[in-house]
Amino acid sequence: MDNLQKKTDIILIGAGIMSATMGSLLKELSPEWNIKVFEKLEKAGSESSNEWNNAGTGHAALCELNYTPEKPDGSVEISKAIKINEQFQLSRQFWSYLVNNKRISNPQDFIMSIPHMSLVQGSDNVNFLNKRFEALSLSPLFKGMEFSDNPEKLKEWIPLIMEGRTTSEPIAATKIDSGTDVNFGALTEMMFDHLKEQNVEINYKHSVKDIKRTSDGRWEVKVHDLENDKIEYHTANFVFIGGGGGSLPLLQKTGIPESKQVGGFPVSGLFLVCNNPEIVEQHHAKVYGKAKVGAPPMSVPHLDTRFIDNKKSLLFGPFAGFSPKFLKTGSNLDLLGSVKPSNVFTMLAAGAKELSLTKYLVQQVMLSNEKRVEELREFIPTAQLEDWDVVVAGQRVQVIKDTEAGGKGTLQFGTEIVTAEDGSIAALLGASPGASTAVHAMLEIFERCFPENLKEWEPKIKEMIPSYGVSLSENPELLQEIHVTTARALGLNEESESLGYTDAKATVLSK
Ligand SMILES: Cc1cc2nc3c(=O)[nH]c(=O)nc-3n(C[C@H](O)[C@H](O)[C@H](O)COP(=O)(O)OP(=O)(O)OC[C@H]3O[C@@H](n4cnc5c(N)ncnc54)[C@H](O)[C@@H]3O)c2cc1C
Repeated sequence: MDNLQKKTDIILIGAGIMSATMGSLLKELSPEWNIKVFEKLEKAGSESSNEWNNAGTGHAALCELNYTPEKPDGSVEISKAIKINEQFQLSRQFWSYLVNNKRISNPQDFIMSIPHMSLVQGSDNVNFLNKRFEALSLSPLFKGMEFSDNPEKLKEWIPLIMEGRTTSEPIAATKIDSGTDVNFGALTEMMFDHLKEQNVEINYKHSVKDIKRTSDGRWEVKVHDLENDKIEYHTANFVFIGGGGGSLPLLQKTGIPESKQVGGFPVSGLFLVCNNPEIVEQHHAKVYGKAKVGAPPMSVPHLDTRFIDNKKSLLFGPFAGFSPKFLKTGSNLDLLGSVKPSNVFTMLAAGAKELSLTKYLVQQVMLSNEKRVEELREFIPTAQLEDWDVVVAGQRVQVIKDTEAGGKGTLQFGTEIVTAEDGSIAALLGASPGASTAVHAMLEIFERCFPENLKEWEPKIKEMIPSYGVSLSENPELLQEIHVTTARALGLNEESESLGYTDAKATVLSK
């Protein structure tokens, strides 16, 4: 085969939301660059980005309690919540740009307004939620949030959750109407459809097997054309490893020093899906609870109204579990195969450290459906087993690495970007906050890998994403403008958007 024909500027591995975002941004910034995509499955957005494989929460830290930890002095730390909210605003702006400029259409097919709520029980937790609410209310990013510990008010907000609740324990919730449900699978497909129109070469059923440096400093990617059972070699100046759970093994193949002492631990997930339309109709919110003691942050239980294929659904979960696969469509040998001489001590240290996580996962795997519905009854006291089915969600590969704070073999729950020192290759590992902050993650890769292009790109980035490089929490006017314009572009609930952001103070509804 003629190698010259196979040279390209950019190779994107994987057709999930991350590669879709990278490709879409690059096509706006440097339209003349040639981009090739290799995806081992038959279509885009079929792994973690698929709507049934993730929870579809537009993570903006409106309801996720793990982003606002309680400090030893009892106050609530909100810096992570501010960061994640600002990152989500970047995604909203870029998606709005894509809609306004007809790169994608029908935003209602991928994003819908839905109130985001946090719900807790017990006086300590109610106190914590109140303090969290007070702290967040000081930031314009969370304007419009309401707090209530009044059961009558809660019955209005979440009738299904309050029905049949007999406990006399204090209960409280916060609610903010500017939350969203995002169908990342549909969005990924839309972005890839547009990329195809822009002459991006998208190769489905092509599995990347190896990545090697060439003598001229480029990268050679070995690809198995699964349909024709042929091996191809493609070279590029820049490679993005956006393989989701499959990124770690590919990163290890590059041999770059940054790929050493990094491991991955797969955590699988299950959701309960309501099959009774009458029950689905009685709930309209994403309601996040508090993680159980010893449970990892990604297993925070939540009851979610979802909009999938223009149909309202109700999901509860995720229940965590263990599977050695790095992708839902992966192999049982994935975990073992990722243990290399360079990371074996990191992996062993993590194994010794994370015994409580292992115990938790084993317990979760052993749960019967009846036991799962018992957990659901903490949210819906009247829940019946026959109204709920189980669906298997995507795999999350949590990154294990050596850190200064945590020492050898520390489990990371966030998203990790790994780049070569010369910026010629980048990989995205980890899964939280995940798809919601894809635009931020890709902009960070640009800053690390394309510093020489950034100056030229900056005006276009600012046209697409007006808050790029600006702290929205410190610029309430820009925040308000962005909220109103993105709500309009994405067809989101404008009334609640403007209400939330023009109203100077958040509302407290107490007993
Ligand atoms: C249970 C669960 C709940 C979640 N909830 C949320 C949520 O509510 N909100 C949120 O924002 N995020 C959530 N996430 C995280 C989010 O789903 C991920 O961060 C995001 O989808 C990752 O996108 P990606 O493009 O990196 O990976 P993926 O969507 O998995 O795409 C990677 C692609 O690469 C392909 N690939 C892999 N290896 C190869 C190879 N060797 N050759 C060719 N192709 C390859 C795969 O087939 C796949 O199509 C959740 C994840 C899970 C598992």
